[in-house]
Parts: sequence; C-alpha cells; structure tokens
Amino acid sequence: MNTVILVGGGHAHIQCLKQLQKESLPSARFILVSSNNYQYYSGMFSGFTEGIYEEKDIMIDLTELSRKAGVQFLEATVTKMDPENKTIFCDNGEVLTYNIISFDIGSRTNLVSLPSSEVRTVKPNYTFPDTIKELRDSPSPLIIGGGAAGVEISLSILARKKRIGQSGQVTLISSSRLLPHAPKGVSTSLEKLCKSKGLHFYLNEKIETIEEQLIQTSNRILKHSGVLLLTGPASFSLFQEGGLSCTEDGYLLVRSTLQSESHPEIFGAGDCVTLSSYTELAKNGVYAVRQGPVLWENIKRTLLNRKLTTFEPQKRFLSILSTGGKEAMLLYDKFYYQGKLPWKLKNKIDSDFMKKYT
Ligand SMILES: Cc1cc2nc3c(=O)[nH]c(=O)nc-3n(C[C@H](O)[C@H](O)[C@H](O)COP(=O)(O)OP(=O)(O)OC[C@H]3O[C@@H](n4cnc5c(N)ncnc54)[C@H](O)[C@@H]3O)c2cc1C
Repeated sequence: MNTVILVGGGHAHIQCLKQLQKESLPSARFILVSSNNYQYYSGMFSGFTEGIYEEKDIMIDLTELSRKAGVQFLEATVTKMDPENKTIFCDNGEVLTYNIISFDIGSRTNLVSLPSSEVRTVKPNYTFPDTIKELRDSPSPLIIGGGAAGVEISLSILARKKRIGQSGQVTLISSSRLLPHAPKGVSTSLEKLCKSKGLHFYLNEKIETIEEQLIQTSNRILKHSGVLLLTGPASFSLFQEGGLSCTEDGYLLVRSTLQSESHPEIFGAGDCVTLSSYTELAKNGVYAVRQGPVLWENIKRTLLNRKLTTFEPQKRFLSILSTGGKEAMLLYDKFYYQGKLPWKLKNKIDSDFMKKYT
C-alpha cells in the first residue's frame, strides 16, 4: 500500500480530493495535511470585503471534502522535511512518511523589508476574514500594493463604506503604476476609474517608515488607521531547507509534469512552485486551478506506473478585477471593459467554482 500525502488545501489539491470522490485507487491511502480545517477562496475576497458575500460563501470545509473522498485529514503545518528518508515533520509533533508527496501550500506575503509588526497581511488565507473585518471598519485604512489584489481590496472597502454610509477614506500606495504588468492603457484607465470612485492613491512611491498611526513614503507623511500589505508572493523556506531543487528565491522547481526537478516522487502546484520551463509565469489562482487536473492525473499515473502528462500554461487568459459596487473590469491582453456585466460574469464563475466544493 502506497502512502500519498497532499500538503496544503490549495486550488489544485481540492480538485484531487474531488477526483478521489469519483475514482478510488485501491493501491494507495491518501492523507491531506493542512494548516486549517477551512480553505478560503481568494477569487471572492473582494466581494466578501464589500459585504456582498458572507464568510460561509467563501470557505471550503477541507475535513468534509476529505471525508467524502476517503482521505485522512490532519490539521497541522508541515515545518520541515527530510526528502532522502521521505519524511515530513509537523508543528503538532506528527512525523509522517510517504511514497509520493504533493505540495500546494501557496505563498507568504512579500514583506518588502517592512516591519511585519506594524502591518497586516491576509496570509495564510484563513486569516483573511478577521483581518478584513477589522480593517474595513476602521476610519482610514491604507493598502500597500498596486497589483490586482491591492486595487480590488481598496475599491471594495471604499464601496462598502459608501454603501453603509460609513465615514472615512481609503488610501492605496503603489511603488509603480497600478497593475504594472498590464498594458499601459489598462493602468491609465483603471487609475481614472479609481479617481472617479474617490480612492486616494499615490503611485511610484516607496514606503520608508510605518508607525502606529502614520506612514512615511518617499514623498509624504499620511495618517492611517491600519495598514494592509498586498505586495505579492514570497516563498516558504521549507523546500530550500529540505535541500530540494529550488529557484534562488526559494520556490520549488518543477518539471512540466509538476514533479520536483531533484525528487520525482515530490509533486507541487500553485504559488509554491516555479515551472523550470516557464520561470516568469505569474503566481495566481488561475494557474493553480489549471494545474489541478494534471497534478491529479500524474499522481495517479505514478501509482499505476504509467507515462506522465504535462502542464502547458496558456499565454493569455481572461481576468476580471472587481472594482466595487458590483462592477468589475474585464481584461484580456490589451482589451478591457469596465461595468456591471463583467461583475455578473465574475460572480457566476466564482459561485460555480464554490458550488463544486461545498
Ligand atoms: C486579496 C487577494 C485576492 C486575490 N484574488 C485573486 C483572483 O481573483 N484570481 C486569482 O487568480 N488569484 C487571486 N489571488 C492570488 C491567489 O490567492 C493565489 O495565487 C492562490 O491562492 C494560490 O493558490 P494555491 O493553490 O497555490 O495556494 P493557496 O490558495 O494559498 O492555499 C494554500 C493552502 O495551504 C495551506 N498551507 C500553507 N502552508 C502549509 C504548510 N506548511 N503545511 C500545511 N498546509 C499549509 C494554507 O493554509 C492554505 O490553505 C488573490 C490574492 C489575494 C491576496
């Protein structure tokens, strides 16, 4: 009997759990190890922030999903691994051995050298609801990071304040233009929209110091009632410390089969991995979701001694950025469209995704 351990209840692993409800593999027992009983779906974080969704709408019960799949669930965080002896160590003292292991543990927030005691983050993702509930009700929340997450959360807090008639202002600070990886026209249009919605934002400014109620940037001093960092992903130290083949910044290097470059019995998907043949690929939920079926297929084929399949990322994909007030901006390459319709589409896609797991 082989032991397959899935570490982390991320987007790819929940698909494996779903598949295990349909197909049973008699030669293997599966264990899911996750830091929390619940996985929170980031596609709906903006809607939760705005008050459109409740907490129950954005959470996936990993214990229930595991139970239905016949998978043993262990609530623990893997803190150390010994790949030569195929062993992992958990924060609750559990030590587990495996034949095959897969990591879908996401990423940490990139703290960009800021003092972590003065800032809030929303990772691990189960901390999101409490952090946001506290921040959105404070009078002058300040968000650092001009990527998709920073813009969405800023506009969602602002929309909620308007809707419930709560006074205060929301500020966003970015070290670049908004959405720095999108075509310039998209950023310009989004910046105009943020202005028209009343978001206070400052571009191309670096944070110098953060104090309890004040923040100093390269150009100004601003008052705040809480700072949230949405500055993109950083890796965990687990893989590098375990001696696995990694990128310089600590992500697990995987082949297109999603197998570790150094240890083929180790698989990985989502934010925690970098594909050797596509090192520049963005870390987002879209790729984590798309890697799910390949990951499942390859775990299964490894158990059955069959040839593995490969993951080929698509160059372009549709993304929809929530802009508050049940509006969104649909983006596809250079094309963008802002309004009510993209939000309806986003709501449908996200709700359909959640229906599969609840
Ligand atoms: C505010 C916000 C909004 C976003 N919106 C979008 C969006 O609309 N679309 C999009 O594509 N992307 C979005 N993203 C990015 C997206 O959240 C991530 O890219 C995505 O969650 C990565 O998925 P994953 O499967 O790799 O891991 P995750 O979804 O992060 O899941 C990892 C899981 O592993 C668990 N875990 C972590 N470490 C361990 C460990 N050592 N042991 C055991 N368990 C562990 C965690 O608790 C968590 O449950 C957003 C991000 C943020 C912050």
